[in-house]
Amino acid sequence: LQALEELLERWKSRALPRPVQRKKTYGTQEVRRAIELGELLNYYQPKVELATGALRGVEALVRWLHPEDGLVFPEQFIGVAEEHGLIDALTRVVLSQALSQAQRWRAEGLTPRIAVNVSMENLRRLDFADFVASEVERHGLMPSDLILEVTESRLMQDAPNALDVLTRLRLKRFSLSIDDFGTGHSSLVQLRNIPFDELKIDQGFVHGAGQDNTRGAIFEASLNIARQLGMTSVAEGVEDAADWAYLLAAGCDLAQGYFIARPMPGHALPAWQADWQGRHVTLV
Ligand code: C2E
Ligand code: MG
Ligand code: MG
Ligand code: MG
Repeated sequence: LQALEELLERWKSRALPRPVQRKKTYGTQEVRRAIELGELLNYYQPKVELATGALRGVEALVRWLHPEDGLVFPEQFIGVAEEHGLIDALTRVVLSQALSQAQRWRAEGLTPRIAVNVSMENLRRLDFADFVASEVERHGLMPSDLILEVTESRLMQDAPNALDVLTRLRLKRFSLSIDDFGTGHSSLVQLRNIPFDELKIDQGFVHGAGQDNTRGAIFEASLNIARQLGMTSVAEGVEDAADWAYLLAAGCDLAQGYFIARPMPGHALPAWQADWQGRHVTLV
């Protein structure tokens, strides 16, 4: 872990500043109305097994179908929802849509595990685990059908109740995933305290890892942590065939990214899968 921390320091000193986001962000009232009027729609992005190409999971990524502005991305409204007490309502909508979609996929013979992103603000409420459990039951699904993703950098902030709520979720047999790994500062001790099932290596250390030593070293150190703690490893941001070949050779478990699929509306998943099965054959 010491070695990983040194690598991350080197990475930070080398990394260029991120381009300034000039996209519009929205006000509290607008976001509140969007939630109430049902303007939020989940897109879904597959997680596939590197060794076999099999569909293992699907991550719900929320979009806002804005009547004037068109498709609005989460960066433009999640922060507002978190800061102004709207994230519980938003998570409720995303979770319930995702579970309904899971039922429709089941009718079509697809049974990917559903991943939903959860904010630290959601974890302030001690009854969050009960809420999730009742939603899953209401949709006739099992706790093992759901995995909750929490972003690493947020997790390490001082958050009252978060550890308690994560433990309650785990006791109810929900799976937990640590998102954007490598962007926060988890210590091994903290990782051991929270029983995560899955570790998602941030896209900054995935795309081009085969051609860049620092990126590759951080990727492999993260993969080792996942292995040593018995977690499923997921590479985010897999953008081309070179990334795929590198991850396959490295022994990473799952892959997610534009190379496999862009996030899509739920109804598009069966057609994507048929296409992917054909494309995957040519990769092996
Ligand atoms: P995330 O959970 O880390 O999701 C991955 C993001 O990377 C998504 O952006 C996805 O579209 C994008 N991505 C996937 N594959 C690739 C690739 O190959 N290359 C590149 N460059 N990007 C890729 P998106 O959908 O804009 O979501 C951004 C973030 O917003 C998510 O990051 C997540 O933290 C947050 N978010 C999305 N939906 C929700 C939600 O329902 N609730 C909460 N609390 N946060 C959400
Ligand atoms: Mg995520
Ligand atoms: Mg991520
Ligand atoms: Mg992210």
